Amino acid sequence: MSQHLEADCCIVGCGPAGVMLGLLLARRGADVVVLEKHTDFLRDFRGDDIAAATIEILDELGLAEGFLALSPRRVRAVRAHTAGGTMLLADLSRVRTKFPFVAVVPQWDFLSFLAAEAATEPGFRLLMGAAATDLVTNDDGVVEGVRFRRGDEEGVVRATLTVAADGRTSVLRDRAELPVHATAPPIDMMLFRLPRQPTDADEDAINIHLGGSWAMARLDRGDYWQAACMIPKGAADTVRAAGVDALRRAISEVMPDLADHVGALETWDQIHLLSVQTNRLRRWYRPGLLCIGDCAHAMSPIGGTGVNFAIQDAVVAANRLAEPILRRAVTTRDLAGVQRERQWQVRAMQLLQSRLTKGYVSAAEGANRGPGAIGQRIAPVLLNLPGFCALRSRVTALGLRRVHVAPEFRTAVRRPRQR
Ligand SMILES: Cc1cc2nc3c(=O)[nH]c(=O)nc-3n(C[C@H](O)[C@H](O)[C@H](O)COP(=O)(O)OP(=O)(O)OC[C@H]3O[C@@H](n4cnc5c(N)ncnc54)[C@H](O)[C@@H]3O)c2cc1C
Repeated sequence: MSQHLEADCCIVGCGPAGVMLGLLLARRGADVVVLEKHTDFLRDFRGDDIAAATIEILDELGLAEGFLALSPRRVRAVRAHTAGGTMLLADLSRVRTKFPFVAVVPQWDFLSFLAAEAATEPGFRLLMGAAATDLVTNDDGVVEGVRFRRGDEEGVVRATLTVAADGRTSVLRDRAELPVHATAPPIDMMLFRLPRQPTDADEDAINIHLGGSWAMARLDRGDYWQAACMIPKGAADTVRAAGVDALRRAISEVMPDLADHVGALETWDQIHLLSVQTNRLRRWYRPGLLCIGDCAHAMSPIGGTGVNFAIQDAVVAANRLAEPILRRAVTTRDLAGVQRERQWQVRAMQLLQSRLTKGYVSAAEGANRGPGAIGQRIAPVLLNLPGFCALRSRVTALGLRRVHVAPEFRTAVRRPRQR
């Protein structure tokens, strides 16, 4: 069986970038087909932090109230705890914005919310469980759509514009042979949960704990603690070889108030390894195809920028491309405009993240070469960065420059279906 669909825009991937772009274009009256290879949004340990920049965008779309009704945790500060004391790294409550906090909400709730909103637009079609497998190109190499597989079915979507929003392991980016500039951040992350206990006090900060040669962070998620442990790149096997008990002891030393919680960590299955990678495409497009979000630039997890950058890419793409898409005349110049508007922010943020990471590396290369060496000397690196608190607060909340939704998207346009 094969399915043939036509659309103004085919978006591959229903992560933050894909769903937001689909919603915006459908609001402008475009016919949009979104392909998502998973059958649901339930994936753990993804970017769950929604910064003020994104909530402002939702507000411009009239969606902030609905989003905040998801009851996200509100993080208002970032604090570092060292043997020398506690330091306020970022104070979001002092940033000038209507939403002076980071909203932490499971990514699947955020995606379900946006997908449900998009589904109210007649031009929006989301095919869950549909994995794009290849590009469809014409004799001149212009991308005219994608092939996909859905269960036993194969299909084709033909579209004026194809958008690859299929994340950091993008198939379409490979098929398009777009050149990638990869950097190799020298860290990986171990992510895990610890249960909350009734006596635990509520926290409205991300707490970074540095000491005993470890760097760990934790966040109050209401019914559990979300924790991360930074390790040198490739050190996961060494950490695992030392045993879960050694990790439990390290957590108890670095975050003593969670010492009586760590018994819940019993096997490595409870600990998710995030292989940290950062990269960016040198060119985000080729005729008929645009890459956005992690597909165009995988960000380091430091600073929690991934979701917000993906959303901002989608807004810029919609602002610039909705008209040409509706006219069915998208030029490479239009596509280049999206890259031009976004790439300096990506480069600058990756540079900022890399500066911080270099601090971790130099710490790791110190006298203590064990897997937890990062924490040993990270504090001075952080503390010595000039204006760190103000910069971190603003960048955490708003990114490097605000992105606004063009006024035309703020109300839905009902365009008669032409296909
Ligand atoms: C383990 C982990 C932890 C993270 N932690 C953080 C964090 O703490 N803070 C933060 O800000 N960011 C974090 N991130 C990054 C953040 O999740 C991403 O930056 C953000 O989700 C990017 O959005 P996106 O839409 O570009 O891509 P994604 O969210 O990756 O979405 C891509 C979508 O495309 C789908 N897809 C892939 N291939 C195909 C295909 N062939 N056909 C159809 N669909 C396809 C995928 O199933 C997925 O739904 C984390 C990422 C990972 C992997």
